[in-house]
Amino acid sequence: MGKITVLGSASAVPDEQHENTHFLLQADERNILIDCAGNPIQRLSRVGVDPDSITDIILTHFHPDHVSGVPMLLMGMWLLGRQAAIHIYGLDETVERMEAMMDLYYWKNWPDFYPVHFHGVAEEENSVVLVTDGLRIFASPVRHLIPTIGLRIEFPKIGKRMAYSCDTQPCPSVVRLAEGVDVLFHEAGGPFVGHTSPLQAGEIARQAGAKSLYLIHYPIRGEETGNFVADAKKLFDGPVYLAEDLMTLEFTE
Ligand SMILES: [Zn+2]
Repeated sequence: MGKITVLGSASAVPDEQHENTHFLLQADERNILIDCAGNPIQRLSRVGVDPDSITDIILTHFHPDHVSGVPMLLMGMWLLGRQAAIHIYGLDETVERMEAMMDLYYWKNWPDFYPVHFHGVAEEENSVVLVTDGLRIFASPVRHLIPTIGLRIEFPKIGKRMAYSCDTQPCPSVVRLAEGVDVLFHEAGGPFVGHTSPLQAGEIARQAGAKSLYLIHYPIRGEETGNFVADAKKLFDGPVYLAEDLMTLEFTE
């Protein structure tokens, strides 16, 4: 079984109902954070997940709304007594910047700090991020303002697949990442450079042959989110939903 919990669904500016976009992925005895916004300890406690159980963190790109929660999470887990190592994945320059950011917080001086292992992901299509018996995660570069990866997540034991566009304008690599997936989480930041409108997200889902589409990373101020789903449906025949904070999705046989 695989389970996704949406910990945040907003684009760069959150409100009291919508944290910045990040997820919890639970599968094959791994609890994986995909991006790390706000203070994840608050969101994890809302969904009853012990921060100590987080095994891995995947960082899609080094924009504040996707990585700024890492220092607070690492510090909080340390103060809560964590001993186990944690693994952080991202493009080389993403993990290098993450390490430099932690250096600014003097983290090497934190006594008895648990091990943090950084893993660079190659900047090429279908790079392996993490593979276990029941879980396969691949990354491909997408088209955002800075180097960014989208993700394809497969649950081979149950034959289910999902994809997450991350922040990107419409591009062929997202279509390939999302080819035939059961669920596509696609950003809907708007028709701007480096982002995608709901209408365009519907077009990508159609091209990829995705079975369902969840719009995420959408603006929550000054726009009618009710129109987002209707816009995506103009170009995509399958079911379209607006991702909301704390919603869960289970992948089963
Ligand atoms: Zn971004």
